[in-house]
This record gives sequence, C-alpha cells and structure tokens, in this order.
Amino acid sequence: MKHVLIIAGTDSSGGAGLSRDVATASAFGLPVCPVVTAVTAQTDKALLSAVPMPCKLIREQIRSAFDSRHIGAVKIGMLGSTENVRLVTQELRDRHVPVVLDPVLRSTSGSSLLTGDAADTLMRELLPVADLVTPNRPELTALSRVPDADHARQVAALNAHAVLVKGGHDSGETCTDTLFDRQGIKHFSSPRLSRSKRGTGCTLATAIACGLAAGLGLREACAQAKKHLLAWLCEGETPSLPPELRT
Ligand code: PLP
Repeated sequence: MKHVLIIAGTDSSGGAGLSRDVATASAFGLPVCPVVTAVTAQTDKALLSAVPMPCKLIREQIRSAFDSRHIGAVKIGMLGSTENVRLVTQELRDRHVPVVLDPVLRSTSGSSLLTGDAADTLMRELLPVADLVTPNRPELTALSRVPDADHARQVAALNAHAVLVKGGHDSGETCTDTLFDRQGIKHFSSPRLSRSKRGTGCTLATAIACGLAAGLGLREACAQAKKHLLAWLCEGETPSLPPELRT
C-alpha cells in the first residue's frame, strides 16, 4: 500500500502540524511515514518554543521511510531552519514522487516558524523540487517579494511548477483558491464560513498529497482536497471509531 510521507513540525496543542496531517491522511484511508523536522510548544494563542531537529536525524527519517515503504506522495510543512530546507531539498531532488509544499512561515498565532534567510532558501532551492506549492496570501507576498495587489506577478516570481493560492485571507461570501498550473488557471470555490479552525493549510496540502498518492491528477486532487477541507470545517473528521467506543 502506498504511504504519504509527511515532513513537518509538531504542534503540542494538536491544532496544526504533523498530528493534523496524520488525521487528514487517515480520513483518506492512507498510512503515513512521519518525519519530524521541529518540535513546537504552543497554544492556540501563542508559540512558546520551536526547536528544529538535527539534520542527521531528519535525513535518516526520510531515507528510512523511502527504504521501508512505497511512498506515493510527499507533503512538506514546517521546516524550521535553513539547514533543514537544504537537507529536505537534497533528499527529495531525485526521487520520482509528487511533492506538495505548504510554505509554513508563521504559526497561526503569528510567530515566525521560518526566518527570512530560510524562506529565501526555500524559495530558491526547495520550490523547484515541489510539484505544487500552496501559499496563502501573506506567504505569497513574503516569498515573491512582489506587492500584494499584483497576484499574477507574485505567482510568476515564484517560478514554481504549479501554485495554489489559498483564498482564506480574502473577504467575500466565497472562499476561492486559485491554481496556476501548466494548463493555465483554475478556480476552486466554496462558501466562506464564519468560523475557522487551526490547521486548515495543513489539512488542504495533505489532502492534495493523498489525492496525488491515489493517482489523481493535480486538478482533481485539488478539487477533492477543497471538498474535504469544507467537510472538515463543517463537521470534523469522519469518525472511524465504532460509536460504542466514542466518548
Ligand atoms: N505546522 C506547525 C508545526 C504549526 O504550528 C503551524 C501553525 O501554527 C502550521 C504548520 C501551519 O498551520 P496552518 O495549517 O494553520 O497554516
């Protein structure tokens, strides 16, 4: 069975990061190989600490995952340091497997999870290795260094294979994500909900990776992931425990 390789940081509040990715992949019935890049202590309101894992440990986690399992797709979330960005780039460069990169720059509470230098390295070195990068508006502005109003120029500046710009930070009755890929532009819209949850970026990127691992094309995987995100925001993960074991 194909596994999804998740390269991400942990979030002790359980809202975002690796645990969110694992829950998402489980909802798609796919097993994961978890690679921990950083450990964070945080609540919904504040980041208390964030410690990147040593490069050697990350390298060995990635190699042992590829050695032990059939990896159908890779999802990258928080990396935490320039060294980690470089290492993950090297480890994935020659693997023929779809890579979805969620360019995590800040915690939901607003603290930096990747310094400016590391973000530049991510932009120059890791981005070309990814089949899809999924920035929200602030991430797109920070990475492209092009003013916010000019979306097309921002996307062009990334020079990526494909970019899914998430519309969560926009306003209006619908929330539209825009995919720029080889075929052109495709919009994915859903009603904008008044409530939000942490971990929406993690959920969407992992759901896309699950679709790619299952053999869907990029556009189909994005459409399926958007539907999954909406269902999760409305209802929560589809429970797999039998009712008598749920509390
Ligand atoms: N990964 C970690 C470890 C985080 O703490 C966060 C946000 O706090 C994220 C990823 C990104 O979260 P989101 O899915 O809300 O963009």
